Amino acid sequence: MKYLDEYRDPELAAGLIQRIKSLSRKPVRLMEICGTHTVAIFRHGIRSVLPENLVLVSGPGCPVCVTAQVDIDRSIKLARIPDVIVTTFGDLVRVPGSGSSLAREKAEGADVRTVYSTFDALSVARNHPDRKVVFLGIGFETTAPTIAAAIMTAHREGLRNFSVLSMHKLLPPAMEALLSGGESRIDGFICPGHVSVIIGTSAYEAVVRQHGTPCVVVGFEPTDILEGLYRLIRLLEKNEAGVEIQYKRAVTPEGNIKAMHLLHTVFEPAQAAWRGLGVIPESGLKIRDSFSIHDAAQSFDVEVPAPVDPKGCACSEVIRGLKTPLDCPFFASKCTPEEPVGPCMVSTEGTCAAYYKYRV
Ligand code: SF4
Repeated sequence: MKYLDEYRDPELAAGLIQRIKSLSRKPVRLMEICGTHTVAIFRHGIRSVLPENLVLVSGPGCPVCVTAQVDIDRSIKLARIPDVIVTTFGDLVRVPGSGSSLAREKAEGADVRTVYSTFDALSVARNHPDRKVVFLGIGFETTAPTIAAAIMTAHREGLRNFSVLSMHKLLPPAMEALLSGGESRIDGFICPGHVSVIIGTSAYEAVVRQHGTPCVVVGFEPTDILEGLYRLIRLLEKNEAGVEIQYKRAVTPEGNIKAMHLLHTVFEPAQAAWRGLGVIPESGLKIRDSFSIHDAAQSFDVEVPAPVDPKGCACSEVIRGLKTPLDCPFFASKCTPEEPVGPCMVSTEGTCAAYYKYRV
């Protein structure tokens, strides 16, 4: 298939739905790890066409949602330093921290700027040599290579006033933590296309082997998702734990070697705090000592008091697939996209925002 509408072909979709229905016998819970899949599944009404024995649960794949409260508080502390300009992707600004948010700090005079790429943040640093520019680095393996490239550029140019607060997350350790935790029954994973473009499918082999939980790397169009579900069900019905690639037009077993090299040149794996999942070893990325001048965690005092999660918010359970937004008493009443209580309602990729938008 070459054109987008071919991936939305109703006849092809109907055939795949039929194949899923004929094949699917066991009751299974499948987790889509990625927020982009969550939104695509809702947008195309995919849940409504699946057999009842097949339950889809949303997982920890939204970078804003999994950013720990402690990191939100650290970002707010940075924004309060008088000569600092905090640069960030949009959604993070609205996430409530323990006592404030970046949006509130901005309203009260802090210099918080939304940028569309890390290279925009570099431009801010070039244009303000008398200020310290901190970029809030969130996201998974998809965004980390571009942030690594920005750090290397800053290093090459001698832009000593540019640094990154690295809050990046790695996906396979989160899958491992979810399965080891034993709380969430997950029979198979729908793995994200874009992260997998970078890390390749070989990155999932260890977790699949250890837990016997299959995964299929899936694209973002409706027929991609349906075909991915069909493949996952086929593995489960045969009791096979494997890694399959549905998204073959973009993903290979080895991934993007150049991007991974860039990532590993600047970052090294380190423990990271996740909202909902706690501290997971080797699940984050720390800036290597050779680039420490661009590491905001080393250049500034980012220690903060023990964070306070939003009272009554069920985001932690939603991220682990233990609850749906409908189980949260605040959903669509006290918590809306205009007045979010937790990050899952802030981000466009958040599960609560998807439930709200598509009025589930
Ligand atoms: S509805 Fe709001 S308060 Fe409830 S889990 Fe979602 S984001 Fe948190």
